[in-house]
Amino acid sequence: MVDLRGQYLAIKEEIDAAVHEVLESSFFINGPVVGQFACELAGHLGCTYAHGVANGTDALQVSLMALGVGPGDEVITPSFTFVATAEAAALLGAVPVFCDIDPRTFNIDPDKIEALITPRTRAIVPVHLFGQPADMDPIMEIARRHHLAVVEDNAQAINASYKGRKTGTIGHAGTLSFFPSKNLGCYGDGGATLTSDKEIYSRMKLIANHGSRRKYHNEVVGVNSRLDALQAAILQVKLRHLEDYTSARRVAADRYDTLFAGHPHITTPYRDPNGTHVFHQYTVRISTDVPGGRDALDEHLSAREVPHAIYYPVPLHQLPVFADGQAPSRHGDMSATELAAEEVISLPMHTKLTETQQAFIVRIVKDFVQDALQKKEVAG
Ligand SMILES: *Cc1c(COP(=O)(O)O)cnc(C)c1O
Repeated sequence: MVDLRGQYLAIKEEIDAAVHEVLESSFFINGPVVGQFACELAGHLGCTYAHGVANGTDALQVSLMALGVGPGDEVITPSFTFVATAEAAALLGAVPVFCDIDPRTFNIDPDKIEALITPRTRAIVPVHLFGQPADMDPIMEIARRHHLAVVEDNAQAINASYKGRKTGTIGHAGTLSFFPSKNLGCYGDGGATLTSDKEIYSRMKLIANHGSRRKYHNEVVGVNSRLDALQAAILQVKLRHLEDYTSARRVAADRYDTLFAGHPHITTPYRDPNGTHVFHQYTVRISTDVPGGRDALDEHLSAREVPHAIYYPVPLHQLPVFADGQAPSRHGDMSATELAAEEVISLPMHTKLTETQQAFIVRIVKDFVQDALQKKEVAG
């Protein structure tokens, strides 16, 4: 699915030098490089502040805490996402309220948000899933009308933009994950929070540092969540290549689009004129009228050792943790989410993907669909 080694080898000298420098300085925690990287990151994305934390899940939790989300509050979020989006709210004693998606973008459907708002609603957490920007204008408008905070889960969409602004910088806060396979990945765990509000930034820093601005003068209950200096140094190097990485993904996505063009049973990613998709994943739908559907294709690709993945086979509202009530949650009609979970499959997507590899992958997918339909015809 990804080629982390190929990507490292291409910039090995730069990375090795940066790592060596940190080792020599032995400034492993909160070294100068951590602050430098945060500044460069904020500068690149066009927000005022960025703060490194230990991972993307912590970035969500710290952001929600900084915005005052706590026990009994409700947080509206999609169900078609990675569990961390809702887990962060649940950990704080808040109740995730799952909203259905726009079937074209796989992102939260702004038209369905307002019906879920109650006096307990405190925040909306849209996710820019697979690298596709969520429709932020109506989301911000709803939040303004109802006095809600917006935290963008931007773990999959660094460098994507929506109407000319980078995702993660449009809401009151935004989050990033630097998990190795993310679009800007480090060599371990890492994450960041983003904001342009000085007060929110100051609370994020406070909370991520044990609730303390001054040593042994803890003001609030916080957490210990830091981006370490080695990861920051690696990310500082890789941030300089982010534009190239992003265009490599977009070029690969265009090639997949061309190879699948006009296929009656395969839906390629929606190209939203308001946004630039950065293709953390290249996710297609296999329509349920293909015999065996997506699950049969999954098995077919596994048998041929073609890398692929299903993001996400189980929507969050159906996961045991939420469905069995271990953590309280609520949801409205989820039909678009449930159909997506049945139809989606993600194909290899990374910065080193070649045209030959893609043509091979697409051939296998198309042959599978053709054979399945032919068998159905013969049987029928
Ligand atoms: C990866 C991811 C996270 C969590 O990031 P970690 O760094 O793994 O904690 C959160 N939300 C989404 C949508 C993600 O894809």
